[in-house]
Amino acid sequence: IAAARATDLSKVYGEGETKVVALNQVSVEFRQAEFTAIMGPSGSGKSTLMHCMAGLDSISSGSAQIGDTELTSLKDKKLTQLRRDRIGFIFQAFNLLPTLNGLENITLPMDIAGRKPDQQWLDRVIETVGLSGRLKHRPNQLSGGQQQRVAVARALASQPEIIFGDEPTGNLDSRSGAEVLGFLRNSVRELGQTVVMVTHDPVAAGYADRVVFLADGSIVDDMPNPTAETVL
Ligand code: ADP
Ligand code: ADP
Repeated sequence: IAAARATDLSKVYGEGETKVVALNQVSVEFRQAEFTAIMGPSGSGKSTLMHCMAGLDSISSGSAQIGDTELTSLKDKKLTQLRRDRIGFIFQAFNLLPTLNGLENITLPMDIAGRKPDQQWLDRVIETVGLSGRLKHRPNQLSGGQQQRVAVARALASQPEIIFGDEPTGNLDSRSGAEVLGFLRNSVRELGQTVVMVTHDPVAAGYADRVVFLADGSIVDDMPNPTAETVL
């Protein structure tokens, strides 16, 4: 089952001399309960693909679907709702609210949606990302790595059906990174969630079931990771 699907998806930025084809007719399916890593050189379109698939960026042509829902068919309000209810996004720049503390940032999307978090799950998420002593701190009182943990916890807290991560462990040391990646993989196995993450790190990609390589806005390779189950 496809949790998300791009079909001939193109994304063009700018026009004339500044025109950049960030994605060139990309077709790819992210299956339910599958953990995919997206790799490729800087500027190859990785972030753009995640943003387009998550409805954070408009597409120029083709189609982007979450489940059976075509994103281009949705008006702003419905799109916002879909993002909130079904998608978790871990931003490269964290995108935390500076006036809220760690815990408030983590539960904000659910608070807005009027949903109560599953407390047991929330406790597990917070423990795994290693934030237990930092929940009362605001983002400017946290290190980059700690802010990243808050961003990861926020994306996981509501148990969304699909999680997109843009370098979700890029600011973590290898041990905390491993914990977060292990947790992501577990939630794929346990909850049947779908995870798609951009990474430059081959060790991080080792946690994924599948690795998709982008170059110059096109998919140049797409292969299963035979060692995914053996990484602890
Ligand atoms: P990656 O994540 O693989 O580093 P990006 O998706 O960020 O690549 O960028 C793909 C291409 O699109 C790059 O050439 C980049 O310069 C261009 N690009 C990305 N975002 C914008 C933007 N907002 N405006 C113009 N060009 C952009
Ligand atoms: P953008 O999304 O704007 O293209 P990136 O984070 O993809 O920015 O790239 C910025 C620069 O940092 C690139 O030169 C990239 O190779 C490097 N970089 C980013 N994350 C890592 C990482 N985890 N390991 C090594 N290099 C990285």
